[in-house]
Amino acid sequence: MATDLELKDGGVADNVVIIGGNACARQIGEKMEARNVPVVYIIRETAAGIQPGANVLEKAGVTDCRGGVGDFTLSVRQNGKRFTQRAGAVVIAENGDLRPDHEAYGLDLSPRVRPLSEIANGDLPDTVRPGESVAVFLHGLARESNPATTRTVMNSALTLARDKDLKTYVLTRNLKVAGNGLEKLYRSAREAGVVFVKFTWTAPEIRCSHQEIQVSFTDEATGVLFTLTPDVAAVDEILAPSPAFKQIQAAFKLRTDSAGFLQADNVHRFPVETNRKGIFAAGPARGLLGEHAWTADAGAAAEALTTVLQGKAPDSAHKAEINRNQCVRCLTCYRVCTYRAVRIDIARPRVIPEACAGCGVCAAECPREAIRFNPYEPSAVSAGIVDARLERSEELFTVAFLCGRSAVPAREQAFRNGWNAPPGLFMIDVPCAGSISVNHLLGAFQAGAGGVLVIGCHPDNCHSENGTLHAKSRIKELQNIFDKIDHPRDRVVSASLAANMDAGFVRIVEEFENRIAGFGAPDK
Ligand code: SF4
Ligand code: SF4
Repeated sequence: MATDLELKDGGVADNVVIIGGNACARQIGEKMEARNVPVVYIIRETAAGIQPGANVLEKAGVTDCRGGVGDFTLSVRQNGKRFTQRAGAVVIAENGDLRPDHEAYGLDLSPRVRPLSEIANGDLPDTVRPGESVAVFLHGLARESNPATTRTVMNSALTLARDKDLKTYVLTRNLKVAGNGLEKLYRSAREAGVVFVKFTWTAPEIRCSHQEIQVSFTDEATGVLFTLTPDVAAVDEILAPSPAFKQIQAAFKLRTDSAGFLQADNVHRFPVETNRKGIFAAGPARGLLGEHAWTADAGAAAEALTTVLQGKAPDSAHKAEINRNQCVRCLTCYRVCTYRAVRIDIARPRVIPEACAGCGVCAAECPREAIRFNPYEPSAVSAGIVDARLERSEELFTVAFLCGRSAVPAREQAFRNGWNAPPGLFMIDVPCAGSISVNHLLGAFQAGAGGVLVIGCHPDNCHSENGTLHAKSRIKELQNIFDKIDHPRDRVVSASLAANMDAGFVRIVEEFENRIAGFGAPDK
């Protein structure tokens, strides 16, 4: 099929593979097809709900994904057969599992304690009597709720109060009714007799025996003690990664968040990016529930897919390159590359340029200095420091390596705010703090620096995931050497900040400069 997209030079696959067949996945597919981009769905189940004529691989799964943007090769298994599928870009919108959150309330599921979806489907215990029975919804008390669950709770509570004539309570911590139509739904539920009890500082005490559930609480507004013995209690359901997520994560070599969803806890990945360029996670694959969240993600995914297929996604100016003659095949580069840009070809590593994010971590970690990462090679950086040293008259000279994702924007904002850099400070912008090797640090000292500072992202929000941690561990290594030779260990230090922390940047630099001034110029 011809595509309206103007493909980047060398692009060999102009299609999108969508993993999943739910409403989020279908919206993404429809948006891409409206842009005349060929779409292939790969789904574990059958193609229910997907428009007729769509290209669907049913009851299929991906077992491996190689390559980079514009040229992915997926290994697919379907009905016992194995084959490959090309893809220009991939989006994963696989369904998670809805699981009742009863354990968070210290409850077991029983005829009286039901998952919210069962109550929403009208599945009530036989003991419930219209006009007599009490229903309680335990909503968002154990963890943050989301608007999709809130909508289900309010709809169900409204139905029980209005149609079943049950005395209905919703016990909640933070009822968010800002979403589409939720405020109106809330008012309708209250008018139908639903009692909403909000807990800000306290929590209800819940006891459960074979005979009954007892919920006791003190109303925070009136101070009155209430005890309810509901005939049915509904507990929220939370979205959890399904067993398929582990297999997808392994096939695509994705970093997950702490719960196991397919997008790492890292602000740089929002809204739909993963650690691999050209592979995106949307909707349930990144832990989102609800129609509105899925629609928003479908829009974001369609934009991101279009951008990468057109070759318009920002790309790194510098790429790592392996000198195979120097390589001893230790595979350190393969292990440390967050972006999965190092491929092993017949036991030899090779960097895939389309997948390389230009962080330089592999070059700094290679024990054989077999990875070229121009223009940040230690010898070139040292030569630059020597030149800068010759141009400056200050007796005390310091060097700061600044991560381009965090410290550089923070410094630029500080400049705009009128900050003047200390005259003896030489700043070197680098793509990632993790690109600074021990050789870079030693080179700076050999060039006459009295102190060396490396500033990177916060470790849990590092664009390269572990770049800041790599930098810190190398600095520690050098500090340990300094300890052994009785040299002040704090002549080399690291710091972390976010891109908007201009004041923090100034404070870090000033503290560093003052500390190094206290040590004085190094012996020549
Ligand atoms: S880290 Fe260096 S020596 Fe080890 S496999 Fe990679 S390129 Fe080769
Ligand atoms: S420079 Fe970074 S992204 Fe590129 S291959 Fe090396 S570690 Fe991977």
